[in-house]
Amino acid sequence: MNAGVEVDVVVIGGGATGAGVLRDLAMRGVSALLVERGDFTSGTSGRYHGLLHSGARYVESDPVSARHCIEENAVLRRIAPATIEPTGGYFVVTPDDPDDYLERFPAACAAAGIDAEPVELDDLFRAEPLLNRQIRAAYRVPDASLEPWELVDANLASAREHGASAHRYMSVIGFERATDDGAVTAVRVRDERSGEERTIGCRAVVSAAGAWAGKIAGLAGARLEMSPGKGSMLILNRRMTTAVINRLAPPGDGDILVPVHTVCILGTTDITVPDPDDVQVTRDEVTALLADGERLVPGIGSARILRAYAGSRPLYDASALEDGQHEESRGISRAHHVIDHGRRDGVDGLWSIVGGKLTTYRLMARDTVDAVAAALGVDAPCRTADEPLPAPASGTPYWLGDRLAALEADGGGDAELICECELVTRGRLTHALDERGDSSLDDLRRTTRLGMGPCQGAFCTPRAAAVLDDRMVGAGNSALLGFVTERFRGTRTIAWGDQLAELWLAAGIFRGTLAVGGLPDTPSSGHAAG
Ligand SMILES: Cc1cc2nc3c(=O)[nH]c(=O)nc-3n(C[C@H](O)[C@H](O)[C@H](O)COP(=O)(O)OP(=O)(O)OC[C@H]3O[C@@H](n4cnc5c(N)ncnc54)[C@H](O)[C@@H]3O)c2cc1C
Repeated sequence: MNAGVEVDVVVIGGGATGAGVLRDLAMRGVSALLVERGDFTSGTSGRYHGLLHSGARYVESDPVSARHCIEENAVLRRIAPATIEPTGGYFVVTPDDPDDYLERFPAACAAAGIDAEPVELDDLFRAEPLLNRQIRAAYRVPDASLEPWELVDANLASAREHGASAHRYMSVIGFERATDDGAVTAVRVRDERSGEERTIGCRAVVSAAGAWAGKIAGLAGARLEMSPGKGSMLILNRRMTTAVINRLAPPGDGDILVPVHTVCILGTTDITVPDPDDVQVTRDEVTALLADGERLVPGIGSARILRAYAGSRPLYDASALEDGQHEESRGISRAHHVIDHGRRDGVDGLWSIVGGKLTTYRLMARDTVDAVAAALGVDAPCRTADEPLPAPASGTPYWLGDRLAALEADGGGDAELICECELVTRGRLTHALDERGDSSLDDLRRTTRLGMGPCQGAFCTPRAAAVLDDRMVGAGNSALLGFVTERFRGTRTIAWGDQLAELWLAAGIFRGTLAVGGLPDTPSSGHAAG
């Protein structure tokens, strides 16, 4: 990026919402530039549960959000089919779930416009044989699994096609404001790789910084009290169900199981945290998730867990402004809010978009851009629901079998496999490096799925580091260290049984053979759930 670039709008945050805002602005002919402090999708959008909500989870607690979810569920299936695996979903009633909630559920779904069809238990158990046989009722809903990385990349690619630009590893560190009316005139950014600082002059700023939006508003002198809700999840090493399974009960911990590619994800907890960067998973959370998961799939506690991870919900408690008291995270609405800081705090030219779900990112972007465009005097309508997003080369949702077919067509064994679990070849890795430029192994994980399979990077990481080192001497070592630190962070709380053995093997490879420093202390044996 050249110093002093002037654009109409600077967008802060490279998650789904920021990417959606950038695309919408660009499609309306507004010049726009996005900055993201890390890699794209490295915030909550890359650390979520993977569910394209039907909205049925919120029909009672949050009907506005439920309606938004079902409407956007239909839009995304139309504009981004290659990012969605249409698994379908069930809401199931376990013996511990309340009858009155079950009785109200069909009417509440109908009121929100969600198709919820009762399912015979025989049919349910035939389709999902591992489910708890004590389940006493079930409804089918249009849930699905949604791939965040490809969705964000597709939004950014579309925005670029319409003239916008997006920059990774570029943190916002301050604002410049006019001396007369206090309006925002520029954003100060720091390149996290070179340390260089620059100023970007602009007419407006959209903060799509999710759970970090309060910090960004503070830098501009505006007030925005976020209530980040930490949610932890567990990745199990295989698909235990073919469809998304939800408990038909008021939202709680460990009550959703989402099949994603070759694995499934059990979640989530919901704990208000003071700092959105505090996403450490605790042993207590792992224990609680597994105990609750047992109600859906008996024996889930003895399944092999590949990884635990957490994200921060971008929750905004609008009622706290009035009474100064914060709701607990679970009680805060998931609906979104567009905040005009000119009107509210006297900081003209700054808008924050907070709340919402990944499922509703496009609607959030539309509502934000409607407000910003009106202020800039632009009356072009939103077209993001009508124009499909660019599809990946395959044109279909990611499926490991496609990679296998491509490998065989390419001469099989000659293709130089770097990652056996996710079939990442040297060619795929170098293509990703050519496309994205300077990248860490963790960045490459997001684009290629390197290290995401059952071995969690034990075998492929050293090979991929060597590919990086071929391009820039020394790059491999630091990439190796960064990747290993991040991967091991997610396995400390789940180190028992087969996974503990796998960890010992990985620790032996990295610490013993490769002498990579900074590995965690010897994992303790003990079953987290026990
Ligand atoms: C545990 C959990 C499970 C969830 N499950 C689901 C689900 O299954 N389905 C669903 O629809 N939704 C789900 N959600 C909600 C959904 O993930 C979020 O609403 C959505 O991802 C938020 O996207 P975003 O773009 O607004 O925020 P983010 O993806 O967090 O993007 C904000 C970006 O701003 C960047 N940023 C911060 N500070 C700066 C700075 N100073 N300069 C530049 N950039 C900065 C961050 O690095 C980040 O990348 C879940 C959330 C959690 C926490």
